[in-house]
Amino acid sequence: AGPFFVGGNWKCNGTKESISKLVSDLNSAKLEDDVDVVVAPPFLYIDQVKSSLTEQIEVSAQNCWIGKGGAFTGEMSAEQLKDIGCKWVILGHSERRHIIGETDEFIGKKAAYALSQDAVPGWDDIVVAYEPVWAIGTGKVATTVQAQEVHVAVRDWLKKNVSSEVAAKTRIIYGGSVNGGNCAELAKQDDIDGFLVGGASLKGPEFATIVNSVT
Ligand code: 13P
Repeated sequence: AGPFFVGGNWKCNGTKESISKLVSDLNSAKLEDDVDVVVAPPFLYIDQVKSSLTEQIEVSAQNCWIGKGGAFTGEMSAEQLKDIGCKWVILGHSERRHIIGETDEFIGKKAAYALSQDAVPGWDDIVVAYEPVWAIGTGKVATTVQAQEVHVAVRDWLKKNVSSEVAAKTRIIYGGSVNGGNCAELAKQDDIDGFLVGGASLKGPEFATIVNSVT
């Protein structure tokens, strides 16, 4: 798989003030060079974060519309994300499925459209996150054995349904109660290529520990 990938999903948290503090903590943290680090602030703060955050960390949105923009009140299009220089978007999070009611079909449309905005869309642009719902925000992290087992299953699925090449290179990351204390053991598993971090990504120093867990 590609470089270790650590995403911080800030969800619907933060204020101008708390985000400015988080950005300054991230800017002063020592992050390993060979890790891809991306944070996903709420839409309203993307610009603030992009203009103040170190270039070592990229910025993601947490959602976007299924197609071209237009009369879709409250939505943001992939073109608009691209326009403000936001190269990543989290799609299909279980909170959007369970709370907002998004379906596989709807999320599939979003993913296809978002990818279509790339000049050469492909699997290199996709990171797959496995997040057991019982582990999200509960403090109950999956065991290394449980996570590794599911990641192998996801990779096998890619092998059978896409190709061996894609299965080998696609980053499959784990999310669900990852913190500074449990990240190192998980990071050692062969098929865990990174993390998607919720709560602990709101604390700069702890997020830095998670980013650096692969070394
Ligand atoms: P927590 O790290 O807070 O469990 O959230 C995980 C998550 O949902 C990241 O997308």
